[in-house]
Amino acid sequence: MDQIPVKNVSSTIQSKIYVREMHGFFQKLRTWSLWALMLSYFITPWINLGDRQAILFDLPARQFHIFNVTFWPQDFILLSWILIISAVGLFTITNFAGRIWCGYTCPQSAWSFIFMWIEERIEGSRNQRIKLDKAKMSATKLRKKAIKHSAWLVVAFWTGLSFVGYFTPIRTLLPDVLTLDAGSWALFWIGFFTVATYLNAGWLREKVCLHMCPYARFQSVMYDADTFAVAYDFNRGEPRGKRSKKVKEDSDVKQLGDCIDCSLCVQVCPTGIDIRDGLQYQCIGCALCIDACDSIMEKIDKPKGLIRYATENELEGKKTHLLRPRLFGYASMLLVMFGVLFYSISSRPSLELHVERERGRLYQMTARDTVQNGYTLKFINMSQAPHNYQIVVDGIEGIQVIGRTEFSLDVNEIRELPINLEIDPYKFKLESSRNDIEFIIRDMDTNEEVLREESRFIAPRV
Ligand code: SF4
Ligand code: SF4
Repeated sequence: MDQIPVKNVSSTIQSKIYVREMHGFFQKLRTWSLWALMLSYFITPWINLGDRQAILFDLPARQFHIFNVTFWPQDFILLSWILIISAVGLFTITNFAGRIWCGYTCPQSAWSFIFMWIEERIEGSRNQRIKLDKAKMSATKLRKKAIKHSAWLVVAFWTGLSFVGYFTPIRTLLPDVLTLDAGSWALFWIGFFTVATYLNAGWLREKVCLHMCPYARFQSVMYDADTFAVAYDFNRGEPRGKRSKKVKEDSDVKQLGDCIDCSLCVQVCPTGIDIRDGLQYQCIGCALCIDACDSIMEKIDKPKGLIRYATENELEGKKTHLLRPRLFGYASMLLVMFGVLFYSISSRPSLELHVERERGRLYQMTARDTVQNGYTLKFINMSQAPHNYQIVVDGIEGIQVIGRTEFSLDVNEIRELPINLEIDPYKFKLESSRNDIEFIIRDMDTNEEVLREESRFIAPRV
């Protein structure tokens, strides 16, 4: 083959890898999952829910809308919790089935996959691409390279535009970008992600997995002898060796294993490694080598599965333990964390209220000899429906609200209401100069109390 010697990892790093396109069960599975992931990334910002984008991280308004749920800055802990759950989910999946995240769902794999797909359509098969790269510059070579890089740049630009579209409503962003009316920050980030995608998926590809991805480095600590991983059945395959078409006779005579040393499993590998060298951190678990080897086994009339998803115990002829303490521990932790998350989201208050006392003075005496305290009530309607509310004050007999006591809030509306509380100290005796009070907010549609917030009413010394 024209590829570098596969056992030499450092040369793998330096040389360009020409991946051979492979067809088979795992390739189909991977194609479906990666296309689905990419299409959902591109389509999601275009989905609307009511009159707003279904997923919108609105930084200026400090609201993160994810379908029916809106996260506010005070929900930051929930977002952190979601990230922690994702990490524990990754540990659980890795402990069970190795790096299937990398092979089937990682964005780096997805974008490299689409860029390689475009390359194959324009420049041809692996051998044609090697030939084209070795050939001197010609009109044909220039045309093919220009078309390929233009197609890559279109995908990269759309990736950048979609990314910014998660932060700025994409239905206005696109026309603004096309007419160069978009803000400078939006243009900067679209340009940044266009270049990053073009370089990552077009040029760096497996180098990101090999040298930049931290997960590749520590994933081995999540493995145990019962973890399923793409593996070569050494006992069945060795001693490897090429043979004539009379395979059965030949292997019997030469006492060869099932591996015919065709190197197809290496040619299809996106990271250019040889799985026959054993489990390696460079393996992204894409299983393309399984499809490759199965196609060879079919041709030479041997059972499939010389390369397969297998556990270390299975390869050593021992029993695989599906239910084991470590996996059980990860899964239970994940379950509990999901429970806490759903409880926290579902029990979030639909209305938030911050009460601020008037700055600069503790109280005010009016011409009618009553005592007044000023407050600013800041409301946030965190529910997905408009509501009509009423303000009631409790805690001191005879206390009155001066100003509006009824108001309505739209979905996700934030509103500040200045109000005064007043009491006639000659009519209603105050026990102390500092008096505890409570603002009670009632939903006028359901006549239910929505929340209570404590504050103080200050009066002259009694
Ligand atoms: S060794 Fe096999 S599973 Fe691992 S990256 Fe290469 S082709 Fe994919
Ligand atoms: S594809 Fe299968 S038979 Fe061919 S070299 Fe790889 S392991 Fe051996």
